[in-house]
Amino acid sequence: MKIIFLGAPGAGKGTQAEYVSERLGIPTISTGAIIREATKAGTEMGLVAKEYVERGALVPDDVVIGIVKERLAKSDCDKGYILDGFPRTVPQAETLDAMGVKLDAVVSLEVSDEVIVERMSGRRVCSNCSKSYHTVYKPSPNGDACECGTPLTVRADDAPDVVRSRLTVYHSSTEPLKKFYGDKGLLRIVEGQDKVEDTTERTFAALGI
Ligand code: AMP
Repeated sequence: MKIIFLGAPGAGKGTQAEYVSERLGIPTISTGAIIREATKAGTEMGLVAKEYVERGALVPDDVVIGIVKERLAKSDCDKGYILDGFPRTVPQAETLDAMGVKLDAVVSLEVSDEVIVERMSGRRVCSNCSKSYHTVYKPSPNGDACECGTPLTVRADDAPDVVRSRLTVYHSSTEPLKKFYGDKGLLRIVEGQDKVEDTTERTFAALGI
């Protein structure tokens, strides 16, 4: 299956993608995680992207499209994949179409802005394996460390003022994708405001898996 997760920053795309990925045995491709790794490694792309990420802006379409094209060409994508955080603009979605990608479903996780701001304050991430946790809703079994043993950190772009900018960008640039995919009959709206496991149940039902 080829699935897209849409939703505001912190809506739970990465978390739900992880469960769907386990269930279906297909990889999750997170453009945000690829960008963070490139920034950490100090590559040219990573350094260009860093400046956008830090102020909560979108990285230019051509950069992100390059990342996705390279990643989708790898053999582990042959049986399908989940896109987490891509596309985020209509031109990105049009490029995916032009690449001949035939999607099975686009899941939009719906969470109000107030809940997002509250949730983001508790998000903790692993800089080693990219796993994401929440201090209250999805704590690590290892306390302040990841399951892989690396101490958890707060993402710089999860600071409240940056989160607000990211929400504004989401509403103006990414939300129009709901109509884009709705018109193609691919959109599945999933309420994402309750407990993680309730959202997972609804996501699986929406995907028929
Ligand atoms: P995420 O981990 O999905 O929240 O992404 C973190 C940041 O990476 C975003 O706020 C953007 O700055 C950048 N980014 C990730 N995916 C995209 C994309 N598809 N288009 C543009 N920028 C992106």
